[in-house]
Amino acid sequence: MVSDMTTMKMARVPEANGQFELVDVEVPEPGPSQVRVKVHACGVCHSDSLTVMGAMGNDFPRAPGHEVAGEVDAVGDGVTAWSTGDRVGVGWFGGCDFTCEACRRGDFISCANGQIPGIAYDGGYAEYMIAPAEALARIPDDLSDVDAAPLLCAGITTFNALRGSVARPGDLVAIIGIGGLGHLGIQYAAKMGFEVVAVARGGEKGPLAKELGAHHYIDSTASDVAEELNKLGGAQVALATVTVPDAMTAALGGIKPRGQLVVVGASPDPMQVPPFALIPGSTAVQGHASGTSQDSEDTLRFSALTGVRPTIETLPLAEAQAAYDKMMSGDARFRMVLTMR
Ligand SMILES: [Zn+2]
Ligand SMILES: [Zn+2]
Repeated sequence: MVSDMTTMKMARVPEANGQFELVDVEVPEPGPSQVRVKVHACGVCHSDSLTVMGAMGNDFPRAPGHEVAGEVDAVGDGVTAWSTGDRVGVGWFGGCDFTCEACRRGDFISCANGQIPGIAYDGGYAEYMIAPAEALARIPDDLSDVDAAPLLCAGITTFNALRGSVARPGDLVAIIGIGGLGHLGIQYAAKMGFEVVAVARGGEKGPLAKELGAHHYIDSTASDVAEELNKLGGAQVALATVTVPDAMTAALGGIKPRGQLVVVGASPDPMQVPPFALIPGSTAVQGHASGTSQDSEDTLRFSALTGVRPTIETLPLAEAQAAYDKMMSGDARFRMVLTMR
């Protein structure tokens, strides 16, 4: 890709539900407390469709991208913790205001004015992007850019949900769905020391689930998920990475007392949960929001340490539309990653 010193390539959406356009735009300058990131790789997440639709009120044109791996290219005034050349990632957490009630309690991911890259500002579908310094996570030396990128949303979401759950080493944990999130969730759960049962549609994903570290596999089309979980003693936690609410709640009857159904598969569709399914075992249905940049850094370090890696397909930035379409069709195995060179 050829760009001169002052312009860069960007794949952006010109209008709500429009097709991506590859354009030359000016390389942006970092303001106070911001850094410019030279993007090396950017994962394509299902939540990028929120940008494309304008579902969270973003402006157009807008470049999506919140699974960004690259290096610090320039720093703005007042940035002391980062230097040019530092390998960094930017995930769903794209900055906070430090002044709202949640921030004042130290709960930055719950910030009332939290910023999401690709929504609040142009994200990683470009050769360069600007991010607030607090949004940066360090990438360990032995993790490549294309492997690090998906870990900054799909990775942190499952890693952080599992480590924040009530499950403890040795507990039975169910991972519902084997896709962009689920294929990482299975690996994290196994490396964290859980007994892992993968749940997916059809028998053909069983061998893959075992390769990823699952100890058991349940074909949800051939058996009753809750019944099968109970045969294994019941799950302490079921992590729902699918986006179909009925596929999530199918596990409820197979969750142990004081257990949790942790929901990370993003869907606007209502979930049917009979109160009778929650009361006897004091069962919780728990959402989980990604994590901060430090949580991202923890995710990257744990992945480097334990060998957890995403399964990816790469395409150059110029083919952003093709990468996005493949992700949306569900045909990606398992994460599409855009590369800049
Ligand atoms: Zn805040
Ligand atoms: Zn995402």
